[in-house]
Amino acid sequence: MKLSLIVPCYNEAENVQAFQDAVIDAFSGCGYDYEIIFINDGSRDATLHNLKKIFRAQKCPVKVISFSRNFGKEAGLYAGLEHASGEYISLIDADLQQRPEIVRDMVRMLDESPETDVIAAYQDRRGEGKVLSFFKKSFYAIINKLSKVTLQPDASDFRTFRRSVRDSMLEMAEYHRFSKGIFAWVGYDTQFIPYTACERHAGSSKWNFWKLLNYAIEGIIGYSTAPLRFSACVGAFTAVAAVIYLITVILQKLIWGIDVPGYASIIVLILFFGSMQLFGQGIIGEYVGRTFEQTKNRPIYIAKEILTYDTEDSHE
Ligand code: UDP
Ligand code: MG
Repeated sequence: MKLSLIVPCYNEAENVQAFQDAVIDAFSGCGYDYEIIFINDGSRDATLHNLKKIFRAQKCPVKVISFSRNFGKEAGLYAGLEHASGEYISLIDADLQQRPEIVRDMVRMLDESPETDVIAAYQDRRGEGKVLSFFKKSFYAIINKLSKVTLQPDASDFRTFRRSVRDSMLEMAEYHRFSKGIFAWVGYDTQFIPYTACERHAGSSKWNFWKLLNYAIEGIIGYSTAPLRFSACVGAFTAVAAVIYLITVILQKLIWGIDVPGYASIIVLILFFGSMQLFGQGIIGEYVGRTFEQTKNRPIYIAKEILTYDTEDSHE
């Protein structure tokens, strides 16, 4: 098997058939085998029903992994990696925003340059608003400052890579997965190519501002301990400020005999230090919570049903 396409699907009922057709179109006459691995990430629409139809038809080799609930795209990608048998592996969305023709080009590039391990696509023209693109820019600036790995701005999960990269990614069996960070962490020679994201074929994006913010926090906490140091620095700074203030108050009293009426300043200071403490605890809590979840050693996903083309209808 030359290529495995890993396709996470969450409520993509109207897209999966069109996706397969587009893949078959793009790869017809390219002369190598490929398989499509669909991951049904706990969809609440007819996605699974349509995927089973596609599986039964087997217009090209198809595997379907169906989760017991929604585990998130990252878990879907992990499941796909586990079941991929291709020499090259490609991560691609089901909504046809990322064209399968680009995958064909990526495969050709890997064939032509044996020293390259990963071909990663980044979005060259953004169709999104100024506010969102400002936040995205800030995110990359912050994370690249704070963490030891360097993320390529705008790089997506849309990538094709060699099997060795897949093996390394599977070794990173962390519960909180952030694939941009995982790619940066495992290294390998990566070549970035621009692509233009098309309109969604059908349905709507599962991302909104808060989900993206959460994702950004996931990335920063997962790949840097700088926030912990930051809260320590803030603590040290306010301690120094408090001592300076204390000395000022004593001097005012002793030298100038000014009696400082303290009500307002005390309230302000109590509120300020109280909130600083909670802020610091919150940061620590983020890390402790992740440690807690990782030590429980729960599986990254639970597959309710796995359909593969060699062992028809095998259940798990
Ligand atoms: N997706 C998923 N699980 C989720 C959310 C999304 O498997 O919980 C899939 C979705 O079906 C699609 C891909 O991840 O194939 C990208 O999602 P989407 O198109 O909503 O993101 P966008 O393209 O807007 O960034
Ligand atoms: Mg999309």
